[in-house]
Formats: sequence, structure tokens, C-alpha cells
Amino acid sequence: MNFSHFFVRKNIPVILLFGVVSTLSVAACTSMAMGFEDAKTPPPLTLKGIAKQSAAIVGKTAPNADIEVGDVKFKADNDGDFVIGIDRDEKSPLVINITSGNHKLTKSIEIAPRKYDVTEVKGLPPATINPPPEAQAKIDAERLIKNAAWASMDYDQKGFAEDWQWPLKNIRITSNWGAVRSLNGTPGRPHYGIDLGAAKGTPIYAPASGKIVIAESDLYYEGGLVGIDHGQGFISYTMHMSKVDVKAGQLIKKGDKVGEVGSTGRSTGPHLHWSLRWHGKQVDPSNMVKPQLPLQ
Ligand SMILES: [Zn+2]
Repeated sequence: MNFSHFFVRKNIPVILLFGVVSTLSVAACTSMAMGFEDAKTPPPLTLKGIAKQSAAIVGKTAPNADIEVGDVKFKADNDGDFVIGIDRDEKSPLVINITSGNHKLTKSIEIAPRKYDVTEVKGLPPATINPPPEAQAKIDAERLIKNAAWASMDYDQKGFAEDWQWPLKNIRITSNWGAVRSLNGTPGRPHYGIDLGAAKGTPIYAPASGKIVIAESDLYYEGGLVGIDHGQGFISYTMHMSKVDVKAGQLIKKGDKVGEVGSTGRSTGPHLHWSLRWHGKQVDPSNMVKPQLPLQ
């Protein structure tokens, strides 16, 4: 793995120029110059997780540090904890920029590529591939509800740093995450979920603690949908549920029951579709139940 550090220099000549204006500002200038010296110390940083497309990295740095990863800007929480979701097609290296006061650090992480299945799904209700015009108003309204949920940015939650569990007790994978799919013969977008085979009524459990950001029982595509912000917009969700046991805004702990398996929405039979997103990036939640090892 290839890591690089560098320190961003302050524009010191400009600061010194201001410093000659008066005695007072010279004093101010001196302390700023000392701050510059101090800025050579980068913020602390430790990382763990899986450096692979569709996985995630959990880090610890200075409290409330500003973090930039590509076009995503966010902050570490009050303890310095943060999470980064790695997109399905993330380009390597992933570059993390951290700023805490005058202290800056840039870290590059090599991201391993991942191969995805190519699959065909047949037998979907045709109206779920090409929705009839009368369904459009419902679909549009639901998009707004979902977008509001996905914009959640809860800095009080820290479920992302827990050891995750599967949302079902017995795991039988029926469709892998990230597969390129054709739906009834029409090319569709990649399958941003892992499908778990289970009978209708099978209990679904929260994979980690967090806050419920969406709990809907009858969405056009998703059917019963429950989404959980595990902190900082790291949101897992389950779809096609026959029963939803939680409400938006509710806090839940890892292992709490959130609902039951079904075949509601665009689905060919009872199963659980499990997804994870982070600021518009699509992440494979099954990576979170694997050991999260230190990264250097
Ligand atoms: Zn699915």
C-alpha cells in the first residue's frame, strides 16, 4: 500500500508584510508565525477498514477536523471519528485531505479493484420497468422523501465504528452486490444491494446502531423501506419489507428488530435487499460484517 504525507505551507511572506504596520500587529504576526511552525505537525490519523472498491474506511483524527475526499466535504465528530464510503467504481488512489486549524495532512490510499457479476433478471412486473404515466406523481413524490433521508448527516451516531452484524439470522445470498443487470431484457443500472433469500415474515435486525432516517411501507420501487444513519450520512437500508416496525427519527441499537422480509415494490419474490450509501457513493454493506483491519 502506498501512502504519502505532505504539509501545506502557510503564505508566510504576506503575513510578515502585515506585521510591519504597527507594534500590535507585529505581536500578532509573531504568534501567527509560531502557528506556522506548529503547522508542520500534521493532525493525528489512524485508519481501519478494507481498501477496496465498495468497502469503507473508519478513521480517527483531530476532533471536528475538516475532511475532503474527492468532492465530498465533511467533518470528524467531537472525538475525531469519521467514516469514508468507497464507491463501487472508485478510482485509485483515494486521496484524503484533513485540516485541523493550521494542521494539514494529505493521505493517499491505494484502492483494490473489484469484479462484479453480470446477471439477468426476468419476470419483474412490466410496470416496474416502465412505470405507467399515472404512477409518475407517486414516484416523483417518493424521490423527494428518499433524497431528504439520504441527505442525513447525523454527527451524534457512531454505528459506523461498531462491529456490524448481518440484518438476518440466516444468510443465503441470492444476488451479489454491484452486479450489472438487465431487467426483463432491458439494461438496468448496477444492483446497488445484496439480496438475501428469506421467507416472508423473517425478522430483520439493525446491522449497527443509528437513527432511522426513513421508514416507509409502500414505495413504488422499494416497497417497505427502512434506512438507518449510522453516523455522518453512512446510511444502510433494507427494501421490499412486508412489515416496518420503526419510525423516522427513532434511535436504534445494533440487533434491534426493524421489520420483516417481504416482496413489496419491484421484487420477484420474498427476499431482503440490503444497501449502504455514503454521500451519493454506493457501498456494499456486507463488507462491514468482515473484519475491519488497521490500514497504514
Ligand atoms: Zn436487490
